[in-house]
Amino acid sequence: MKGKTAIVTGSTSGIGHGIATALAADGCNILLNGFGPAAEIEQIRADLAKTYGVKVGYSPADMTKPAEIRAMVALAESELGSADILVNNAGIQFTAPVEEFPDEKWDAIIAINLSAAFHASKAAIPLMKKAGWGRIINIASAHGLVASEHKSAYVTAKHGLVGLTKVIALENANAGITCNAICPGWVLTPLVQKQIEDRAKANGTSVKHEELELLQEKQPMHTFTTPAQLGALAVFLCGDSAATLTGTALPVDGGWVAQ
Ligand code: NAD
Repeated sequence: MKGKTAIVTGSTSGIGHGIATALAADGCNILLNGFGPAAEIEQIRADLAKTYGVKVGYSPADMTKPAEIRAMVALAESELGSADILVNNAGIQFTAPVEEFPDEKWDAIIAINLSAAFHASKAAIPLMKKAGWGRIINIASAHGLVASEHKSAYVTAKHGLVGLTKVIALENANAGITCNAICPGWVLTPLVQKQIEDRAKANGTSVKHEELELLQEKQPMHTFTTPAQLGALAVFLCGDSAATLTGTALPVDGGWVAQ
């Protein structure tokens, strides 16, 4: 993938960082995006550039703001030459029963976890069509395929993201562009760490205890998937071997949705 450019939203942490690292290791220039202290983001940017000898830029675009999302895609083209690969990964979580779910949390989850992927794809597809090649990878979730209680906005957004994946795949089937969703089960990132810590606090138990409880409730396999494993799958989806793999929602979930 030498010379190609990948935009990875939400790549200052967790899964996005794992995917950006795997793509950089394969020779891709990277446009990072996400929040965090400026010095930490600059460290991530400089480390990737130095370790893998690729160009690495950063867009501070807020995924709730369509104009900033369009500017992010434009920045990939102006600073790194193209926008060949788009990984829609940025996401947030909030849990509560529907009748207690705050309206502003609903709006934020739908905006970041679903609408941002629409706006970014809308901006990137014309560039991919011009190049005659493109890859869009949407980081959905096992919650894009099955539901859990207290996650109305998240489950709705992720099911929507799987639907958007299929539509983009169909519309671009003969344009050299594929679009797939990756549906991870549990990955131990800050997003999940917070859920585990909240449970330990609520139940008066240890974080280690709640880690295992969380896994056992949903996954036949009591093991977290790693950001590096998801990064390897993203690299595969960008390669020639996956040229006809499109419109899918691939579970990487320790058997979660096989049940
Ligand atoms: P994380 O909290 O470690 O990372 C989230 C990233 O998104 C961060 O870089 C953050 O700065 C960025 N972000 C948040 N709001 C943003 C906004 N408004 N604009 C731009 N960037 C924003 O979380 P993670 O676990 O790595 O999650 C990444 C994706 O994977 C999410 O879409 C999540 O739903 C999905 N996912 C995670 C798991 C899991 O178990 N961790 C499982 C399935 C799916």
